[in-house]
Amino acid sequence: MRVIVIGAGLGGLTLAQGLRGAGIDVVVHERDGARGRPQGISLHVDDRGTAALRACLPPAHAGMVEATMGGPRGSTLQLSEVDGELAAVGTEDKARPGRQAHRPLLRAVLLTGLEDVVRFDAPFTRFEQRPDGTVRAWFADGRTDTADVLVGADGVGSAVRRQHLPHVRVVDTGKRVLMGATPLRAVDTGLPALIGDNAAVARGRGTTMALGVLRFAQPPAPARDRWLPALRDRAVTDAEDYVMWALPVARERPGAGDWRRARELAADLHPTLGRVVDRAWPDLTVALRVGMIPPMPAWPATTVTLIGDAVHVAPGFGGNLAMRDAHRLRDALVHAARGGTDLLAAIGGYEDGMRRDSFTGLAVPAGAEPGA
Ligand SMILES: Cc1cc2nc3c(=O)[nH]c(=O)nc-3n(C[C@H](O)[C@H](O)[C@H](O)COP(=O)(O)OP(=O)(O)OC[C@H]3O[C@@H](n4cnc5c(N)ncnc54)[C@H](O)[C@@H]3O)c2cc1C
Repeated sequence: MRVIVIGAGLGGLTLAQGLRGAGIDVVVHERDGARGRPQGISLHVDDRGTAALRACLPPAHAGMVEATMGGPRGSTLQLSEVDGELAAVGTEDKARPGRQAHRPLLRAVLLTGLEDVVRFDAPFTRFEQRPDGTVRAWFADGRTDTADVLVGADGVGSAVRRQHLPHVRVVDTGKRVLMGATPLRAVDTGLPALIGDNAAVARGRGTTMALGVLRFAQPPAPARDRWLPALRDRAVTDAEDYVMWALPVARERPGAGDWRRARELAADLHPTLGRVVDRAWPDLTVALRVGMIPPMPAWPATTVTLIGDAVHVAPGFGGNLAMRDAHRLRDALVHAARGGTDLLAAIGGYEDGMRRDSFTGLAVPAGAEPGA
């Protein structure tokens, strides 16, 4: 069996690792260059993502990811001013268990060992399902590639989905979130100690700020030497502990830079929090457009399928859903490749499970699209 994956994001690379580990011929075509564009700085990984990474990655890769995550997340603290000082005054009802992964490092780990099967600067444009049962993919440079299965892992603007499920529309909810990160060394020392491994939320004068701290459980360079010496990427040496933060924005303000806008909003909060935004890495401050894909009725299974944001978007946990899809599709394709089931039945079974578990709850606004 040969599988083409479109998109070297979280879902596509997790799937490629899983298929390759099972001895299946897989190739990944990625629109961006090898350094790519920033895909966010940190990722909250829950049980779904952890299970997928353990199942799809070689043990050394999984060991590297787990060694360099932040500590297990506890509660979500409510921060407020008490006698002029920022203090934890309670906890939110909703806990989100999991650990923080540094996204550039996770991506570098996912790419390690796939260098010979990932083709960069290769924007996919269309596919053709051929009479002999194979699928041919076409790329912007005029090249083509042919396989038994084509997987669209090409994110919320998916070109594979546009052709495969042309009736599906991504709806802009009008909501926006500014997100950024600040090196821990630049933050008032009391704040990281106050937050610990918890999440935190602060509110004031109509502004809400969510925060968390990523302290690498093991520094990435020695962890790499122990687990994955083949990992040669700047993400290992550049990594340092940081505070990540998010500020919902009522509406877009054309012309206002993302970091400037974040600083204006944080000025409504305690000065300690204002300083967190002031001292952030400006280039890493991004505005996200919050979109949703309305749940859709089932479609017939074919040799073209979709994973991750290409087919469902989810606020703050879309990466976990993408990795879970990759895990489940890997299992289905391996089962079919070994003769355990018919290929279309395997893909149909994967899609039924994905619709059942990932479309649930999408009647509320969901998802995040970078680049507002
Ligand atoms: C700032 C930020 C913070 C987030 N935090 C979290 C979090 O804490 N936890 C969580 O679970 N989720 C989080 N998410 C959501 C998560 O990032 C996404 O749900 C996840 O990246 C989806 O993975 P994916 O593989 O489906 O798509 P993506 O990661 O978007 O990857 C798609 C890939 O396809 C490529 N591509 C696109 N079009 C083409 C084409 N035509 N041809 C070839 N390649 C193409 C893209 O360049 C990209 O590399 C966050 C998102 C952002 C932006």
